Amino acid sequence: MSHRTAVVVPTPAHSSIGGVLTYLSEAPLAPGTLVRVPLGRRELLGVVWEPDSADDFEARTKSVSAALGDLPPLDASWRQLVTFSSQYYRRGIGEVALAALPPQLRDLDAAQLARRLKRQGSRDVIHAEEAAHELTAEQRDALAAIEGEAGPFLLFGSTGSGKTEIYLQAVQRLLAHTPDAQALVMVPEINLTPQLHARFVERFGEAAVVAMHSGMTPPQRLKAWLAAHLGHARIVLGTRMAVFASMPKLALLVVDEEHDPSYKQQEGARYSARDLAIYRGKAAGAKVLLGSATPSLESWQASEKGRYRRLEMPSRIGAGALPGVRLVDMNLQPKKTVFAGTLIDAIAQRIARGEQSLVFLNRRGYAPVLACGACDWKSECPNCSAFRVFHKIDRTLRCHHCGFTERVPRACPSCGNVDIAPLGRGTEKLEEQLEALLPGARVLRMDADTTRLKGELERQLAEVHSGDVDVLVGTQMVTKGHDFRRITLVAAVNPDAALFSADFRAPERLFSLLMQAAGRAGRDAAQSAGSEMWIQTWHPQHALFTALRRHDFPAFAAQQLKERELAGMPPFASQALVRAEARTQEVAQGFLHAAAEAAADSDAVEHVSVYSPVPMTLQRVANVERAQMLLESTSRVALQRFLADWQPRLHELRPRGLIRWAIDVDPLAV
Ligand code: ADP
Ligand code: ZN
Ligand code: ZN
Repeated sequence: MSHRTAVVVPTPAHSSIGGVLTYLSEAPLAPGTLVRVPLGRRELLGVVWEPDSADDFEARTKSVSAALGDLPPLDASWRQLVTFSSQYYRRGIGEVALAALPPQLRDLDAAQLARRLKRQGSRDVIHAEEAAHELTAEQRDALAAIEGEAGPFLLFGSTGSGKTEIYLQAVQRLLAHTPDAQALVMVPEINLTPQLHARFVERFGEAAVVAMHSGMTPPQRLKAWLAAHLGHARIVLGTRMAVFASMPKLALLVVDEEHDPSYKQQEGARYSARDLAIYRGKAAGAKVLLGSATPSLESWQASEKGRYRRLEMPSRIGAGALPGVRLVDMNLQPKKTVFAGTLIDAIAQRIARGEQSLVFLNRRGYAPVLACGACDWKSECPNCSAFRVFHKIDRTLRCHHCGFTERVPRACPSCGNVDIAPLGRGTEKLEEQLEALLPGARVLRMDADTTRLKGELERQLAEVHSGDVDVLVGTQMVTKGHDFRRITLVAAVNPDAALFSADFRAPERLFSLLMQAAGRAGRDAAQSAGSEMWIQTWHPQHALFTALRRHDFPAFAAQQLKERELAGMPPFASQALVRAEARTQEVAQGFLHAAAEAAADSDAVEHVSVYSPVPMTLQRVANVERAQMLLESTSRVALQRFLADWQPRLHELRPRGLIRWAIDVDPLAV
């Protein structure tokens, strides 16, 4: 036991040790080797790290308990990705490394693992089973660029322009030309993985493709992880977590719908899988392909400046036209109109022709608030600074933040008045109203409530595809990705809130959401001529709608980027948030004030703006008070340097009553 070995272990996020500890081992262990080591009273899975990275720990140095020597070490580029993520997102290196490994690896001993590895045979690509489409000219140009240039690439293609076909063929060419090469393909939503998985399996065969997402069981995850790590799987298809898959021969990374906010992890190490894909591609010498019909303004700006190579595919396959956009001016409608008469007529015409319509609203439940007509009682959540939502179907009031659920009271809890009524509307109420306005129509509601049970989502999608539904009502989950062939009308009934949101990214999200939703209509060329996107708005003159009408993302992006530049916001500035949670707002903000004082003492603060602590928009959740403080700099490097200098000091501030704090680098909502 004489060799000093650096090992990363999952130390708690708030401990002052960096997560790399020194152990002794009998023989030298290569960096990347998985080991089992004692820590305190427990034995943990760890990863051997670069020898010079360990904290000094000599006095009580312990020995490695076991090395999982049958498994090839995690390679240098994977370790580099983990190290970078830990530094950039300011989390423990061990926490990041271990979170990136399948949980079951922690419980397997070396012998079990060896047995498993034997069973996991090598896999070959069965070559392209389904004949690839003959490419359109736009697709040919895009693929030629991807093959011939270095990238990173931003594939800017309309919905239905054949982006997925580009991913498939880029992967296909890579696998055909480079023995052993691996490709990583990421999608934003678990729900979208089965569809894409099917397309990849059709093309490359079952054995070549593995999925990686949080909906898998621990044994499934271990199996997929091993297949990728051993190079047996040539293609890994997954959600954001897949960016950390161990892929020793990684040569291509694809990020589909790269603008999607779900690429940002919202707890622990709050990484952006899209941004890490760019980093990983560079570090591993792999190509990176981002794709979207409405790129994030960050990626768009990078393509404007030439840092990313933009590939454009404006045309829809089969000349299916993008739907015409119709704005309904709600100022001209009778008071309390939910659905404009013209919209209902248009939906009725669709039904008569055997076509489908999609109506969406970003709020599930029946109504956002229940209110008393006699006093000012409203269905506030006792634990959160939010209203509980009225769900008529089971007559409950449910808090969408803490989950607190109660039966609807018979009378106002405050004054006893029996006349309590819903205010506003959610998907449940829309469904009810549509059924009343369109007698006999088959209306199906799809949202997180109706798809909670396993298998429900698939069943409901099948119902839509088979034509058993006339009108689909749902939240934004129905607007993403699904290839609905018969939908010729899409309606957004109340999208205005995002126009005036405190969140500067809200217009970007709304535009993207509406473009995505419009993309659901008229996917079948035969029907696309009459396909329409309806938007009910109180602000029909808004620039966002003007650009949307023309399907003109570049114009929208240019206008937004100009505003952001003037206001000094991302992508023209880098941001980080410190969030604090405590029983009282005073304690949460007190911590942030102390943190701001510590910032003033830092030499690295010069190019960084430190804003005042404020309560978060959703100030209280489950009886926990939340506050945040924004940090901003025009230089990403300066902000990073500052955070590295400043964060260790925050560990020393331990105000009484503080529950937790965390740094969010490149936050999506500020
Ligand atoms: P996107 O990912 O941009 O929404 P897809 O790749 O899903 O677009 O393509 C839309 C539809 O067009 C799919 O049904 C796909 O199979 C088909 N398709 C794609 N490329 C071609 C092509 N070159 N020729 C014929 N059909 C194609
Ligand atoms: Zn009352
Ligand atoms: Zn609540």
